[in-house]
Amino acid sequence: MAPGNRKAPIHALTSASEYMVADFDRDFPDDEACLQWLWRQRYSQDGTHAFCERCEAVTVFKRYETKQQRQNWTCTACGLHVHPTAGTIFHKSSTSLRLWFYAMFLITSTRSGISAKQLERELGVVYKTAHRMLKMIRTQLMTQDDEDPLEGQVEMDETYYGGKPRQSDKAQWKDLPTSAERRMASQKWADKKKAPVFGMIERGGKVRAYVVPSTQRPTLYAHISTSVKPASTVYTDDAKVYRKLPVHGFEHHRINHSENVYVSGDVHTQNIEGFWSQVKRGINGVYHSVSRRHLQSYVNEYVWRFNHRDDLTPMFFTLASSAAVTLKKG
Ligand SMILES: [Zn+2]
Repeated sequence: MAPGNRKAPIHALTSASEYMVADFDRDFPDDEACLQWLWRQRYSQDGTHAFCERCEAVTVFKRYETKQQRQNWTCTACGLHVHPTAGTIFHKSSTSLRLWFYAMFLITSTRSGISAKQLERELGVVYKTAHRMLKMIRTQLMTQDDEDPLEGQVEMDETYYGGKPRQSDKAQWKDLPTSAERRMASQKWADKKKAPVFGMIERGGKVRAYVVPSTQRPTLYAHISTSVKPASTVYTDDAKVYRKLPVHGFEHHRINHSENVYVSGDVHTQNIEGFWSQVKRGINGVYHSVSRRHLQSYVNEYVWRFNHRDDLTPMFFTLASSAAVTLKKG
C-alpha cells in the first residue's frame, strides 16, 4: 500500500453528514481561520466583496495588518470597519475563537452531549468558562425552531423528569406513622421535584418538547394548537387529558397503556417514547442531574440534536452557522 499523505489524511466516508476531528483541524487550524469563516458566512461570500452600510453598496473590503491584529475588515471606499464577531456569542469573549469553534464541534460530535467537566478537560479552560460556553451555546443556538407546525401522523406524550427521591428526601416521610401520610408526603415531593415535559413528534419528522407547569388540558392544548397542524392524525396513550382532541379537529387514536397494550398496528407512541429515553439517558449519563429551572434548555439540546439528525449538512456547520448571526436582544 502506498504511504498516505500525512498532511491530508484520507478517511473512510461513513456518512454524508460525518465531520471528523481531522476535517475540523484542517478547516479551522487557528483563530484566523475561524474569523475568516465568520466573515464569509456573515458578510462576504468571496471574502472580498461585502455590502457596506455606509456606502449603501457592495464594495471591496480589506483586512489591514495592524500591530495588534484586530478582528475587523475595512471598506476600501469609506473606511468603515466591520467586525465579524460583533453581536454574536463570541463578541467580547476572552476565550479564543478556535476554542469556541472546537466546543461546538465537540457538542455536535457526541450523540448525547458533553458535560462542562469534559469540556474543561478537552479545551484546557477553567470549569467556569467551560460551563458558560456550554450554557451560551445551548441557550442561544440550540433553540427549538417553531416555524413549521408538525403534521401528518403525530405522536404525543408526557413524561416526568426528576428521578428517584434520595435518602435525604425520603427522610422527610419515612418515619411518618401511617402509610397514607407517607404516600401524601412522597406525592408532595414528586409535585415539587418532578418536572412534567410534554412532547409531540411527527413520524419521520421533527420533535417538539416543552417543560410544562402541569399536564392539565389548557396547558397541553396551548402547545398542541401552536405546534400541530389541524386535521393531523394524533396518537396518544389513554390518558384522560387527550380525550378532547377530536373536538379540536384532530383524528385521534389511543393506545390502551393502562391495559398493557403498547402497539396495535399503526397505533402506538413508540417514537416519542424513544425520544424520552434518549433525553433521559443523556441527562442522567452526561449531566447527572438538571434543575427544573434549566431543564428546558437541556431538553432543547436533545430536540435540536434529534431534529438535525438526518441533515445533509454536518451538524457542526448547522450549529456554527446559527452562531454567525446577531443575537436577539433579551
Ligand atoms: Zn463603505
